[in-house]
Parts: sequence; C-alpha cells; structure tokens
Amino acid sequence: MIVGIDFGTTNTLIGYVDRSLRPQIIVNERGSRITPTVVHFKNEKQVLVGELAKSQMLIKPHQTILRVKRRMGSDQNYEIFKEIFNPSEIASFVFRKCKNFASEFLGEPVEKIVVTVPAYFDDNQRQAVAMSAKLAGLQVVKLLNEPTAAALAYEMENDSEKIILVLDFGGGTFDITLMRYQDSVYQVLVTGGSTSLGGFDFDQVLVDWIVETVKNEKFIDLSKDPIALQQIYNHAEQAKIDLSVVAETSIVIPYVALSPEYGPVHVNLNLSRERFENLTKHLLERAKQLIIDVLKEASLPPEKVDLIVFSGGTSRMPAFRRIVTELFPNSQILSEINPDEVVALGAARMAAIIDGRLKSIELRDVVAHSLGVFDDDGQFVPIIDRGTVYPTIATKIFTNTRDDQDKVLIKILQKRDEELVELGDFQLTFAKKWQKEEAAIAVSFNITHDGILTVTAEEMNTGEAQDVTIQGHLAEIRVPTPDQARLSLLNKIEVL
Ligand code: ADP
Ligand code: MG
Repeated sequence: MIVGIDFGTTNTLIGYVDRSLRPQIIVNERGSRITPTVVHFKNEKQVLVGELAKSQMLIKPHQTILRVKRRMGSDQNYEIFKEIFNPSEIASFVFRKCKNFASEFLGEPVEKIVVTVPAYFDDNQRQAVAMSAKLAGLQVVKLLNEPTAAALAYEMENDSEKIILVLDFGGGTFDITLMRYQDSVYQVLVTGGSTSLGGFDFDQVLVDWIVETVKNEKFIDLSKDPIALQQIYNHAEQAKIDLSVVAETSIVIPYVALSPEYGPVHVNLNLSRERFENLTKHLLERAKQLIIDVLKEASLPPEKVDLIVFSGGTSRMPAFRRIVTELFPNSQILSEINPDEVVALGAARMAAIIDGRLKSIELRDVVAHSLGVFDDDGQFVPIIDRGTVYPTIATKIFTNTRDDQDKVLIKILQKRDEELVELGDFQLTFAKKWQKEEAAIAVSFNITHDGILTVTAEEMNTGEAQDVTIQGHLAEIRVPTPDQARLSLLNKIEVL
C-alpha cells in the first residue's frame, strides 16, 4: 500500500485510503494523529521524534532540532555530539518514524510514499525531501504540491468547471494557490503567498507582549533567558490556539525566572481575543493583501472563486476566517475536513490513485520560478516566465560577444524571489571561430508534462547543437544513490 505523507514544518501527518476507499489519518504509537516534526538526539545512538522530542526542547535545546523543513536543500548543517548531519539526514529520522508507526498500524511494511512539498519549493528542496525518504528506506512515487493535495482531499463533482482557492496558512508560511478544476483535471493558475508569514509570527507577537509586560511590571528582561523564553513561546502558542475557540484566556507560567531583587517571577496575564486580534492586526492585514495580490495576478474578481479550501493550523483563526468571508461573500467555503489534516488526506488519495484503487486524475502545474540563462554580462535573461503552464517550450536568440570565439557556456538558472539558483550548465563548441556578434545561438527551454526540463543551444548558421536535461526539474525527482557510509551511520541510530 502506498501512503501519503504531509511532511510539515511544524507537524507531520500520514494518511492512507482504507478498504472502503475513504482517506484516513494513521495514528502514531501514542495514538496521535499529528507527529511534531521535531528530532531530539538522546545520545549518539538514539533519536526521539515527535511529541517526546518536543518535550526535550526546553531541557536540551542543543540536542533538539525544530523546523528542519526550512533548511531542506540548503547547506546549513547541524552539529550534534560532534557529528555533522545535513538537513536531509535529520529529516530522514522523521520519515523513519513515520515508516515505523505506519507499518505497525497497517500491519504491512510501508515502502512507497507520496510526499507533499510546498508549491514554491525548488528543485534542490524537492530533491532534499526525496533524499530524506530514501535514507529512511522509502521510495517517493510522487512529490505532490501541498495546495494541490489540499484540493484533492475534497471530491469534486465531475463535469462542471470550478475555480478553487487553496489557503494554506501553516506554522511558517502562507501558501496561496488558485486552481481550476474540470473533468478530473486540476490546473494550477497562480501561486502566491509568503514564506515568512505563519503561525510563528502570531506567537512571536504574543511573546513580545508577554516579555514587555513582565518587564514593565517586574523589571526583569526575560528575553535574555532562553529557558524562560522557551516556556513563554509554548504558552503563547497555546493561548493563541485557545483564542480560536474561546473569547478570553489566561497565560499562567509560575516560576518562570528568578529575579535577584524580587525573587521568583510568575507570569499571570489575561488575554482576550479582541486584544489578540488588535496586537496581530498587521499580520492579518498582510495575509489579506497577499490574497488580493493573487487575485490581481490572475485578473480574477473574487466572485469568480467557486470554492475555498482551508488548510494549515493557522487557517483556524477566527479573524482570518472573517477576512476570507468578507473578501469572498459568494464563494463556498469547504471546511468539513480538518485543516490540519487536509494535505495528508489529499496525499493519501493521490497514493490510492497511483495504486489504481481510485479513479485517475490529471494534474497540470505552472512553473513556480522563472527560468533562464546568464548573458555575457552576467545578467539573468528569463526564457520561461514564472506562472507559465507546462508542457511548454520557449526560445531566445543570443549572439557571441568576442572575436575568435569557438565556444559558449550556457548557464541555466532559476530565479527564486530575487535569488538566482544554478540548475546546471553546458558548453556549445563550434568548428569555426566566430567573430564578434556573428553567431546566432538559439537557446530553447522545453518542459515536458511531467516537469522535466531540457535546454538546447543551437548555432543557427551551422546547425551545431548541444543539450542538457535537468532531471526531474519540476515534477518527478530522481534521487541520487545515498552515500553508503552515511547510510550505515544513520542506520545505526535507533529512532524512538
Ligand atoms: P505546517 O504545515 O507548517 O507544519 P500546520 O498546518 O501544522 O503547519 O500549522 C501549524 C501552525 O498552526 C502552528 O503555528 C500552530 O500554532 C497553528 N495552529 C494550530 N491550531 C491552531 C488553532 N486552533 N488556532 C490558531 N492557530 C493554530
Ligand atoms: Mg502544512
């Protein structure tokens, strides 16, 4: 059986489609539907993942890793007990944990998975996630974009065209996706949002407020005390979550610190939802603006949106829901499925589609980041723009800039926000030496329907050509064979 995994920044969930073809969440060995994406090194040979790891955060912060997803595909490694681990290796413990409890739950070994990734993840990040799974002995049969998964969780009526807006408001990010559905085809129209706006920001506002209040009342600065601060974070998040259901809550942290002059310091504050919403007004305003921006980019008035799917824990906030209802008074809001679980349940349906147990669908995606090359001045020249639907092909003509030139180097780049990421390069060599601006070099980018990018350069006078295929650039991912020494080191570590 193929299962679906929502590997989140904050929490990881696994879903599967049961015998009666209903998507379900697999509970972990503690009976929880949610496993915190937290890894704690108990010692050199044992790691804890999930709730148990989270509870060690306070006591042993240097052995505890949070939010590894934010580092996927980067070279920001972790050093634990003098051993260096890259982000994929750390995340592999989370996947191993999932593999273990899911196999236990299903009574059969889980070997293949569908994993969801943010729509804006680039090739490196996707590959890093697939590598984590591989290190855990799991084969990724599909990397599915999270918003697409969220939409898939809801069964659509077959025929009629629907415009769907997926609002995925998680711990660290707000991911907005506008898609069109018709006849089992899901077409992404526009993606947007922010990678720096999420539930943590709301927690941070509350933490600052608590620290400030304590400073004013007790003359002690808790922001300098990491253990106190960690407790404040935990309580702030809890208060925020409470305020999604109740109108008022209290934040009580006894003995949070010891003041040299005043003795033990306790936090005891009341907070109303109204106050909280006032404190976080700027964040809500930003969220609203991001939604408006996506509609603008799609040139779509709000009344054209038929369905809205809520996903991510932060989407439960009443103030956020209010904003959405005000923006879209005529749209149907789909909220029967728990927003924490909607991505994992969608991934589970995708897994069952690949398994052949559910009816097939087609996913059509857009290029999330523009793709292009460097010209001779080192300037980025886009060839395929962000938001282009693929399959697609696009060509631009360049020339040479020097006399006696017998080769050009084609550097392929992706533009992520303002940052350029190199995807690969190749050289086109010529039989003759061209004088300055004599050659006509056509550079074509071709993306197949499964997201594989091939770049071709052709000198148009002579027909001399060269190409390179960037494997699994956008959709299917080919993961390199892991380093055997690392693999055996990881396998010697027990995951609890
Ligand atoms: P991720 O996809 O980033 O792992 P989740 O979708 O699991 O994130 O959302 C986690 C975020 O949702 C956290 O910041 C958490 O505090 C917040 N959250 C969870 N439940 C609620 C709630 N009822 N009200 C407000 N925020 C919530
Ligand atoms: Mg998520």
